[in-house]
Amino acid sequence: MAEIPGARAGLLRDAEEVCAYLRSLAARLTPGQVPEFALPDEPFGDWGTEPATFQYSFHGHVRARDAWHGRAAYDPALASLAAESLREDGWESRVEAAKYPRTGGREVVVVGVRDGRRITLSFPRDHGAVLYRGQSRALPLYEHVPHVRPEPAVTPETLEPGWALCYECEGLGYCPACEGRGWVMGGLPGWGGGTGDPDRLGRCPECFTERVCPICRGRGSLRPG
Ligand SMILES: [Zn+2]
Ligand SMILES: [Zn+2]
Repeated sequence: MAEIPGARAGLLRDAEEVCAYLRSLAARLTPGQVPEFALPDEPFGDWGTEPATFQYSFHGHVRARDAWHGRAAYDPALASLAAESLREDGWESRVEAAKYPRTGGREVVVVGVRDGRRITLSFPRDHGAVLYRGQSRALPLYEHVPHVRPEPAVTPETLEPGWALCYECEGLGYCPACEGRGWVMGGLPGWGGGTGDPDRLGRCPECFTERVCPICRGRGSLRPG
């Protein structure tokens, strides 16, 4: 796979810009407490999209200053201030109430979205922490290579005497559903089952990523009887 020239550096620059903005936001919301926000070495790759896209995510947290003085742990004003600041800086922002998936505890979440970038701030209700999260755009890094249907393993002209074209793949040899890719749009999402998303690549439901025709196992022909 050939990398798109400059794409990796562009993605890193995008992440660094979100990071710098998040630092400036943290400096306003929780003055004197700005997390480090270390970028991971490698961006996260999403191979369910075509082409695959890559994205940096990073996070950091602080203890809200008020909590140190034994006052209200959760300050609703801070969430509104965050949403307002994001809006003023050109981000689409909204405030949501959410539950932690594990403990069922409650938190207020402020989400900011701008040009495919995303910032999420969580304010847990039961303690004075603020969790800052940032995400760069999701961008392709590799040149998209369009799929080309492979040459058939066997054609009526090259068929051995006494053999017939495979009824499943008609001589292709590769799995006829994915044409040898192993993956199809709307395929199965993971090894544990689940339902496919029509807009995402998933495991081919016919060959289960084996890539060959499940009937003739790649030969393209079958001996009748
Ligand atoms: Zn076949
Ligand atoms: Zn297949």
